[in-house]
Amino acid sequence: HLSTRLLAVAKYVPRGARLADIGSDHAYLPAYLGLNNELDYAVAGEVVKGPYLNALHEIKKEGLEKKIMVRLADGLAAVTEKDAIDTITICGMGGPLICHILDEGKIKLKKRPKLILQPNVGEWQVRKWLNENNYQIVTEEIIDENDHIYEIIVAEWKAEKDDLTDEDYLFGPILKKEKNSIFIKKWEREREKLLHLLSEIKKARKVPLEQKKALENKIRKIGGVLNG
Ligand code: SAM
Repeated sequence: HLSTRLLAVAKYVPRGARLADIGSDHAYLPAYLGLNNELDYAVAGEVVKGPYLNALHEIKKEGLEKKIMVRLADGLAAVTEKDAIDTITICGMGGPLICHILDEGKIKLKKRPKLILQPNVGEWQVRKWLNENNYQIVTEEIIDENDHIYEIIVAEWKAEKDDLTDEDYLFGPILKKEKNSIFIKKWEREREKLLHLLSEIKKARKVPLEQKKALENKIRKIGGVLNG
């Protein structure tokens, strides 16, 4: 019963990975990979007791206790050096929280694991973090699940930093080149929303000029990418 979204994430986990899935909730993603013999080993990390218990239950039910460790911990505190993690998935949370988890857990990234991230919002912050921390975005995917649009960002450590612009951060360097129908749907929707906001703001007299300008700028940027 893996969602389209998590199935899309699952395909980027290399066969035989030693995976840490942080914020695992029911541990559906590692359980699915474990049942399909895609994993060598995994840690399912959860910071909240309820979801942690859900994960424990799921892993036990599927008989995966030997392969998948469920741990109650904040972010990357769930993993130790001994786990020899080579792949990390962090899915279904906001970009700022994903960045916070990566920042707090920097010491756990010394072996430069592959990162597979699926922010629900604030994707640009995730891309900025990756670029600033020498992670190159190697794959991006945009999916539509029941009219919810999600982005998946896959990154690998690289010695030199890529030259990414603010526009790359916002739209995704790969997604904006590809410009598929889901990408267009997302950004047309966003532009509509911002145009509506702008018209509301124009009615309210007290809104500072810079705020209007910033909004107009973003609308123009989106237009540029959609029509460019
Ligand atoms: N990863 C699953 C998915 O994509 O379907 C679950 C997403 S769920 C919306 C987010 C989960 O992250 C929640 O269960 C929450 O408790 C957990 N979480 C939030 N902050 C966390 C942190 N700092 N460390 C570990 N888990 C965290």
